[in-house]
Amino acid sequence: MMPPMCVVCPPAPYSRRPFEEFTLVHFRETRTYDEDWVGHPENAVWFCADHAPLVEGLTGLTADEALERIGQRTTRS
Ligand SMILES: [Zn+2]
Repeated sequence: MMPPMCVVCPPAPYSRRPFEEFTLVHFRETRTYDEDWVGHPENAVWFCADHAPLVEGLTGLTADEALERIGQRTTRS
């Protein structure tokens, strides 16, 4: 499991936020894995408490699609 790292926050990985403030959001799966897959699922993405609300209504998309929409929301405000 990767350490929590918000995908929206500026490139400052491993911020000082406590682990509890991160949410692992699952998006639509883009590929299937072998049954013994134990790694980090590609459709699961970490968000910090500030950005977790941005994914509301987007979890039906793939992670790539959702992140694109989130990027538009966060840069055009
Ligand atoms: Zn964030």
